[in-house]
Formats: sequence, structure tokens, C-alpha cells
Amino acid sequence: MRNIAVFGVSGRMGQMLVREIDAHPKATLSAAVDRPGHGWIGQDLGQVMGVAARGLTVTDDIGAALAASDVIIDFTAPAATLALAERAADSGVGHVIGTTGFDDDDIAALAKIGAHGHIVRAGNMSLGVNLLVTLARQVAGALGEDYDIEIIEAHHRHKVDAPSGTALMLGEAVAEGRGVVLADMADRARDGITGARRDGAIGFHAIRGGDFIGEHDVVFAGPGERVTLRHVASDRALFARGALRAALWLEGREPGEYSMLDVLGLSAG
Ligand code: NAD
Repeated sequence: MRNIAVFGVSGRMGQMLVREIDAHPKATLSAAVDRPGHGWIGQDLGQVMGVAARGLTVTDDIGAALAASDVIIDFTAPAATLALAERAADSGVGHVIGTTGFDDDDIAALAKIGAHGHIVRAGNMSLGVNLLVTLARQVAGALGEDYDIEIIEAHHRHKVDAPSGTALMLGEAVAEGRGVVLADMADRARDGITGARRDGAIGFHAIRGGDFIGEHDVVFAGPGERVTLRHVASDRALFARGALRAALWLEGREPGEYSMLDVLGLSAG
């Protein structure tokens, strides 16, 4: 059995993770954590989730949660995840990071922590999206620069970051397929008299509204034809199942910062 703590337990993903862990024969929920001051702290987890009391109190005590766990699953916010990564690595506890919205400095800091910690980080934990990432890399390499690439994503009205972590994963993949650096080619906002499209640009567009769980299109618009790769998530449990799979996969690994492509055996090379 693996003892798994959920950070951000009151959130959309946190609650989904509790259900997936409860249903898994090889996983036990070892701690339920949320931010200090959250209304769930000190309450029985079952009761606040609207089911029967289960004798596990929601806590903001990170030290106690780490001490009780082999691995933690974290869908919170960038600052919380960064602080936690250092402590998890120092405690020898695996860290599955679903949080998105990191800037370049955050990503560098996590890579550094990954030298001695055990991290799986992915902007999207689904099998389909990770497969799409490998396909997008291949298609970008095969079609070449005559085909303009635009990445369009749609998410629910509560999402706080844009482009989505998944859109950025797809952007990195197409940039890699073309042999360019995403930061040099990304066009993230167009408004007003922008001039004609920059050669080789990789465009991003974010729709926010309603209850979209997550939709991503990678459009390759060429002379006389368009190719579109599309993924539609229709159940948030998909991401929770992927995160749980990553948490179980980490057992016995060497220190490192892994991706979902590693977990799913889809890594290049
Ligand atoms: P949410 O706002 O519903 O939940 C976030 C939770 O984190 C809340 O319960 C909040 O109280 C808690 N939190 C904030 N700061 C904390 C701290 N310091 N310590 C402990 N808990 C803290 O959001 P959500 O929809 O569940 O998404 C959370 C994150 O996961 C976002 O970054 C989102 O983009 C990302 N996400 C990733 C994937 C993926 O597959 N990688 C899928 C869905 C969402």
C-alpha cells in the first residue's frame, strides 16, 4: 500500500483525487491538506465532502502530512507548490505536481529540486493529451514552416492562468519538432494592427467560460489545407487517475523530475 497525501483537498481536483485514492486497492489517503485559514481545516474530511465521517481531519500541518506519506499529490497554486517541493524532497517524499501557471524561474527552481527529489510534473495528466503531445511534435517536424501553427484552448470560467499548462506543453512539443525555442516564437496575444503573421510564429488563444473541463486544438494551417489535432476532456476524473498512476509509478525511482510521458512510457528516444 502507498500512503498518499492530497494537497488542495477542497479544490475541484483535490476532491476528485480523494475519490480515486479511496477506490484504488494499492493506495491509502494518508493526509488531506489545504491552505491555512481555509474553512475545511480542522473538519472531518468525509463530512465536509458531504459523505459519512471518516476520521481523517483536514489539516494545514505540512510536516505531519509529509511524515505520514510516501508521496503527495499537489493540485494547488504555484507559490504553494514551490515551497512544498523543497520540503518534500528534503523529507524523501515523492511529489506529483499537477499545478500549472509556473513562470520560467519557478520551472528552473523545480528542475533544481528534482536533482535530489522525486517529482512528476505535468501540465496535463491524461493519456490522450500526452499522446497528442508526441503527435504534435511529429506533425510539426513533418509539415515544416509553410504550415502556420495556432494552439487554441478552452477552459471553465474559474481557471486563473493562460495559456493553459497543456497548451504550453503542446507549444513546447511543436517547437521541438521544428527545432526552435518556444519562447522566441510564441505569439500570446493579438490585438489591433498587429501586421501580418510573423513567419514561424506559434500562436496561442484562450477561451474562458462556463464549465469547459479542457479542450485543446493544434492547428497546422498550410497552403491549400489545414490539419487539426484535437483533444477534449469530458471528465475531470481523467486527470486524477493520471496523477494517481504517477504517484504509484514513482515508487523505487531514481531522484529526478519526470513527466507524464515518462510515466506512460511515451518519452522520446
Ligand atoms: P481549485 O481552485 O478548485 O483548487 C485549488 C486548491 O488548492 C484549493 O482547495 C485551495 O484552497 C488549495 N490551496 C491553495 N493554496 C494552498 C496551499 N498553500 N496549501 C494547500 N492548499 C492550497 O483548482 P483546481 O481546478 O483543482 O486546479 C488546481 C491546479 O491544478 C491549477 O493550477 C490547475 O490549472 C491545475 N490542473 C492541472 C491538471 C493536470 O492534469 N495537470 C488538471 C486540472 C487542473
